[in-house]
Amino acid sequence: MSKHRLLLSGGLVLVKNETFERVSILVTDGIITALLADGDGPEDAKRIDVSDRLIIPGLVNGHTHSHGALGRGGVAGDMTLEPFLAGSAWLNASRSTHDLRLAAELSAAELIRKGCTSCFDLFIELPGPTVEGIHAVAEAYQGAGLRAVVAPMIADKTIYQALPGLLEQFDQPLRDIVAALSMPDWQDIIAVCNEAFATWPVPDGRVRPGIGPTIPLHCSDAFLTSCADVAAQHEIPLQTHLAETRLQQVIAHQKYGTSLTAHLDHLQVLSPKFSGAHGVWLSQSEADLLAAHDACICHNPLSNLRLGSGIAPVRMLMNSGVTLGVGTDASNTSDGQSMFEAMRLAATLSRAQASDSEEWISTRDAFAMSTTGSARIMGLKNVGMIAESWAADMLFLDAGYCHYTPLRTPLDQIVFAENGAGLREVMIAGEYVFANDRVLTLDEQSLAKRAADAATRLDETNTQTRLMNAAASAVVQSFCRATCALPYPN
Ligand SMILES: [Zn+2]
Repeated sequence: MSKHRLLLSGGLVLVKNETFERVSILVTDGIITALLADGDGPEDAKRIDVSDRLIIPGLVNGHTHSHGALGRGGVAGDMTLEPFLAGSAWLNASRSTHDLRLAAELSAAELIRKGCTSCFDLFIELPGPTVEGIHAVAEAYQGAGLRAVVAPMIADKTIYQALPGLLEQFDQPLRDIVAALSMPDWQDIIAVCNEAFATWPVPDGRVRPGIGPTIPLHCSDAFLTSCADVAAQHEIPLQTHLAETRLQQVIAHQKYGTSLTAHLDHLQVLSPKFSGAHGVWLSQSEADLLAAHDACICHNPLSNLRLGSGIAPVRMLMNSGVTLGVGTDASNTSDGQSMFEAMRLAATLSRAQASDSEEWISTRDAFAMSTTGSARIMGLKNVGMIAESWAADMLFLDAGYCHYTPLRTPLDQIVFAENGAGLREVMIAGEYVFANDRVLTLDEQSLAKRAADAATRLDETNTQTRLMNAAASAVVQSFCRATCALPYPN
């Protein structure tokens, strides 16, 4: 079979995430096979002049939720995570397999548009995952050409069962209504996941399975252990929301008598396949546990700000040896899927935490977290860097754009200034997926119309649930306000 060879010639390339060099990139069947002195290259390769571009590896999103793409604007008002979860359940209700696929396509279109070439998607299907639903999301990413880990986000407890003392705060008749809510048995959830992974519908390369026990408090111990077994058996990544809010740690100490991470360690859930999203309220001893198991944390600075969860102790985690990635979180908790924005916040927020500049997250650190760090969380090898034998996932920035005029320190200028406005082309596995301001793998006009129609239909179907959720959310908010302030040992 003849090889598909491309020669990207004359660009200013970030080589090995270290230095910018004027080199040509030879791409063979989706892999970077050589970096050549400008002007060199085989005759039979298709030559593309990229001399007016800065070329960097595609950004890797270590934590998102595709269902959020259809949930934008769905929860009004200012609230922290727990009342948000209680108030937003209706947004994910009554969704068909088509709706799950549509949400993943919408999310993929935005990710690609904003310079992301791989994502870890914890998507939710209610009341529980189905093989068809998991496969529909995988097929959506395959069609979009995006690299993805598709992890059903699963729980065997409702928030009303997960937080001790919460139910007692409700008056009748709402108390009976929320008390009657339930999740599927965990054995059934695990059986669906096992079947979906064993019958994976797309070639097991660009889109792979993962498993996402949503929040440890929302999962029974037996279920968490079983999720870790599934991850080990299928050799897939496992991700959970870890210490996203202070409330989660307060409740963990009440419920387990230990921190969240110590509890997961006790259940033998920590491993190199494990990543915790957020990690805002992690202590030094928890960081040490994570590092000892070679486990990872995905930093989601924007949603942590939006929901008032706090600022994650990224420097402490990094110094402890924890591998770090960066994510956007969902489009209804951070209002978009911009990895450039998340990466910039990873660098700049650290400066609000310490006056000593040696404690800050450098642009180099933030870039590494947003590429090879998140790729490690996804279990991807040779993704996130422009180097020989690495995946040809690349972003092409307009070197004449205002962010780069004049150009002195390209990496600083990209991390601190780029917001996607200077992005001209996106390539994944050697194929352009974005060019001339169009996503080439999806029909964005049709997507927009289908999304509007789906939102109208779902909002009408879920009206009663929305009203119930809003009333429940107010009770959850007052419970959290009181409980969140309680002391817990570090
Ligand atoms: Zn999340």
